[in-house]
Amino acid sequence: MNAPHMDLDEFRRAGHAVVDWIADYWTTLHQRPVTSADPPGTVAEALPGSPPATGGEPVEAFLADLDAIVLPGLTHWQHPGFFGYFPANTSGPSLLGDLVSSGLGVQGMMWATSPACTELETVMMDWLAELLDLPPRFSSTGSGGGVIQDSASSATLVATLAALHRASGGRWRGAGIDRRYRAYTSVHGHSSIEKAARIAGLGADGVRALDVDPDTQALRPDALRAAIEADLAAGDVPAIVVATIGTTSTTAIDPVAEIGAICAEYGIWLHVDAAYAGAAAVCPELRWSHAGLEYADSYCFDPHKWLLTGFDCDAFWVADRSELVEALTVLPEYMRNAASESGAVLDYRDWQVPLGRRFRALKLWFVLRWYGVEGLRAHIRSGVALAARFADHVRADDRFELAAAHPFSLVCFRLRADDDTNAELLASVNATGRAHLTHTRVAGRYILRLAVGSPQTTEAHIDETWTLLAEAADKLLTR
Ligand code: PLP
Repeated sequence: MNAPHMDLDEFRRAGHAVVDWIADYWTTLHQRPVTSADPPGTVAEALPGSPPATGGEPVEAFLADLDAIVLPGLTHWQHPGFFGYFPANTSGPSLLGDLVSSGLGVQGMMWATSPACTELETVMMDWLAELLDLPPRFSSTGSGGGVIQDSASSATLVATLAALHRASGGRWRGAGIDRRYRAYTSVHGHSSIEKAARIAGLGADGVRALDVDPDTQALRPDALRAAIEADLAAGDVPAIVVATIGTTSTTAIDPVAEIGAICAEYGIWLHVDAAYAGAAAVCPELRWSHAGLEYADSYCFDPHKWLLTGFDCDAFWVADRSELVEALTVLPEYMRNAASESGAVLDYRDWQVPLGRRFRALKLWFVLRWYGVEGLRAHIRSGVALAARFADHVRADDRFELAAAHPFSLVCFRLRADDDTNAELLASVNATGRAHLTHTRVAGRYILRLAVGSPQTTEAHIDETWTLLAEAADKLLTR
């Protein structure tokens, strides 16, 4: 029997139904509890144990099951009351760009496998670099250039591999072959840095997690210098420093200029991870956070966090693309082609870990054209203002305290009470289903985090969340 392909009339009809379903979801999202209260296994038990032997179900049946089975089992990341982790917000134009990417179904591993996929990406990365006012060395018109990675974690891995290539004089073959290679970050550096070090062969103890300033939680340059000196004295090779603009716990900003000067002195690769806070640089008044970036060998931020571009989309730049390409190129015969050999094109397969790549530049193109520079600035400013509004509520209530500065859209705060009471406060507000916050620990203390990012979040949602917190605090403190 021939496979029952979806004919194009049916595709058109069902496609409209699916888009309507998504629009209905976004319209009614605020009425849903932000997180699922169902126990583990609920979704799995509601699904058949085996795939259907014959197909032919109408798409309406899939949509009915999405309503009945999937939606109740979701954490609604686009919900206006979602304040957990860092945001991962999408938008109409992003979704439509992704839809086109799926429809075209091209695989852009090399320029030759779809020239427009590569060239649109190169131009989008240059547009983004201009939007953030990144140093000119990252532009593809010079020796640098940008590429879309799936995530900031991949960007860190790729930067680590390029750094090891440089530090070993192009002879990197994994740890233990000659000398120990080292990576450096602060104790607040993201867990992906250790993961990258492990994958690259440095071992979990290959990363030096350095002390931070107790007031700012930012990496201390003197601690970096001391660690480098100690490693050199032991015969180890300092390979990469990862500085963070906007740490995951509290959005602390490492002193990139001072760190960069140290890296330049010792010839160490500097990667700057601005996964969440990089988006802030679209606003000129927030670019102070990127001071010192001219020292960086590589830099990344996630448009999929705070720039209205659906997951996955990490924007990664290098100052010298030839180092990256040298570190990652493996050229089998079946990949050889005239365009690559001419040297006139970029082959992004050599800029990342996987070979294949989706046409992700389309969603960026759609987002940039729909919002424009001013629209994106307005989105960032709204997040910063809503966070400031929430912080004002915290400041005005003596029972609470702010636990860190809030330059972006994350507010870290706590009840002036013990850690267990703070954990109960978080659990009780989250249990209402109206808001979802997460926590962290800084200097051993339990801290609540409220991160704003959803385009649907308004002042009313911030005020409602504050009221929930204040009421829960009443109960906890008077029991
Ligand atoms: N770096 C920082 C500072 C982060 O906050 C995060 C995630 O929150 C990451 C890296 C990892 O991001 P991704 O999920 O894109 O790998």
